[in-house]
Amino acid sequence: MRILLVEDEEGLSNALVEIFKKNKIGVDAVLNGTDGLKYAESGSYDAVLLDIMLPGMDGISVLKKLREEKNNVPVLLLTAKDEVSDKVTGLDAGADDYLTKPFSTNELLARVRALTRRKGDIKDTSITFGDLTLSKKNCELQTQTGKAIKLSLKEFQILELLFENPHQILTKEKLIEKIWGNDSNAEYNNVEVYLSFIRKKFENLNATVRIRTARGIGYSLEDETR
Ligand code: CA
Repeated sequence: MRILLVEDEEGLSNALVEIFKKNKIGVDAVLNGTDGLKYAESGSYDAVLLDIMLPGMDGISVLKKLREEKNNVPVLLLTAKDEVSDKVTGLDAGADDYLTKPFSTNELLARVRALTRRKGDIKDTSITFGDLTLSKKNCELQTQTGKAIKLSLKEFQILELLFENPHQILTKEKLIEKIWGNDSNAEYNNVEVYLSFIRKKFENLNATVRIRTARGIGYSLEDETR
C-alpha cells in the first residue's frame, strides 16, 4: 500500500510519515498543493491525505481537479477547521472522508485502512492464483497442500501487484513507482533482485505459478498448467 500525504506543516508532515512507516504503509510527502496534484495525477497511490489550507493550490482545488480528470483515488481531507461548511464543500468536491485536526494516530490509521479497503474487499484478505495463495494477513505464500513461506515486505508488495493483475505485464517502472515511490533511488536491478528471491520461493513451494519476464519490458504472473 502506498499513500500520498499533502500537508504544508512540516512538523506534522514528518510526524505522519514516521507513523505510516512504522505501520508499514509506504508514503510520499509533499508540502504544497501544486506538487500534491502532480503526484496524485501519477496514479501511483492507494489513497491521498490532503490538507485543505495549502500554499500554491488549496486542497479543495486539487481535489476538484483530480475528479475532473476522472481520477478516483480515495481522498481523505485533513483540516484544522471544524466547520460544517468545510466538510460539506469537501465531500461535495469528491472527498471520500474527512478528518479534523488534531486527530489521534489510531483514528488516522483506521480511516486510511477503511479508505484503501473501499477499493475492493479482496484487498483485505488473500488472493489465490493458480496453486498459490498470497495471504495478506500473514504476509506469506501458501500452497493448496498447506505449505507456506514467509515474505519480506518488498516481496509481498511486488506479489500483491502481480496477483492483483495476473497475465498482465507490469513494467519495472510501474513496480518501482508503486513500491519504492517516485522519489526513491531504487534501480531496475533492485526489482530484479527481489524477483529472483520470489522465484526461489516459488521453486521451494514447487508451484506451477511462474513470473514470466517480458524482456526489456517487465513481468507477468502466469500459471504453467494452463
Ligand atoms: Ca495547512
